Amino acid sequence: MNDAIRPQPGIMEIALYVSGESKVAGKTEVLKLSSNENPYGPSPRAQAAFAEAAASLHRYPSTDHAELRAAIGEIHGLDPARIICGVGSDEVLQFITQAYAGPGDECITTEHGFSMYPILAHAAGAVPVTVAEAERRVDVDAILAAVTPRTKIVFIANPANPTGTMVAEADLRRLAEGLGAGVILVLDGAYAEFAGDFDGGVSLVEDFPNVVMTRTFSKIHGLGGLRIGWGYARREIIEVLNRIRQPFNLSLAQMAAAEAAVRDLDYTRFCATENARWREFLRNGLVQMGVACDESFANFVLARFASAEEADAVDRALREDGILVRKVGGYGLPQCLRITVGDEAACRRILGVIATFKGIR
Ligand SMILES: *Cc1c(COP(=O)(O)O)cnc(C)c1O
Repeated sequence: MNDAIRPQPGIMEIALYVSGESKVAGKTEVLKLSSNENPYGPSPRAQAAFAEAAASLHRYPSTDHAELRAAIGEIHGLDPARIICGVGSDEVLQFITQAYAGPGDECITTEHGFSMYPILAHAAGAVPVTVAEAERRVDVDAILAAVTPRTKIVFIANPANPTGTMVAEADLRRLAEGLGAGVILVLDGAYAEFAGDFDGGVSLVEDFPNVVMTRTFSKIHGLGGLRIGWGYARREIIEVLNRIRQPFNLSLAQMAAAEAAVRDLDYTRFCATENARWREFLRNGLVQMGVACDESFANFVLARFASAEEADAVDRALREDGILVRKVGGYGLPQCLRITVGDEAACRRILGVIATFKGIR
């Protein structure tokens, strides 16, 4: 007799997600640069919309997110009927994985890819397959070479986390085409707004029936604490995803704040401009001190030290100063630290601590 209670296959293979730390022992004031949060906070309009929603908390929210989808569609020039909203883009990624991958299937992620992708693959009972990158850049040919008849989904964040690098549009097109109609290419555009003139993958969704784009309110819109994301795909896929979405997955307050945030174009522009400026300042400062750093297209930089020991020692020195950054050994980058681009004061402060560590001043 088999009376043991057992979870579904794959679930015990999940390594729990490790989020950016927010506390340092013995410090009350911490500068948190470990989770790619917006240093300027959410738009004042989003805050006001959230506060206003408090009076209506006895009402159930809409099940179809029509107003939020209309706002996203209007601002991004997209068909609202092809948008789905979720509890963070993580939930949209979960819908995709649950709907299109299962036991016996494979989901491709890359060497330094976002750690949620293997978690979602395992949760669906599928096998995550990790493909090597080329010098911290997603390698489209290596992905195509790893495709088997069992491959169902390929996950790419563009710009990527934690490397901050980007795949060129022509390479993405080659990938979407090479995968064929039976494999979904997920383009995770969590950092798309920081990449300058980049549509996050919209044009690929328009041109290839197998491409799905995901986006989030957690990064440029500074609403990570509220949990809102969305996806864009052809209608048939959105209709599939909506079947497994809980009808009330988003609260009134989430939708009200997100709608105000996406409509506040001036604020979004301000955040993108400041980020680009201080990202360059931070990267130049690191490079001048002999710390290697790829060009980043996101709201963080990946500082590459001489060794894992040096990265650990710098991390300790930063903690001593009450600064938290992200160690990325779990992403196969033990010699690196991922540093969120803060405001001017934050960037100056972190460069100062690293300079002192290196004995430069
Ligand atoms: C931060 C991040 C997200 C956003 O997740 P949410 O669930 O929307 O907060 C998605 N993908 C990547 C690669 C990220 O770094």
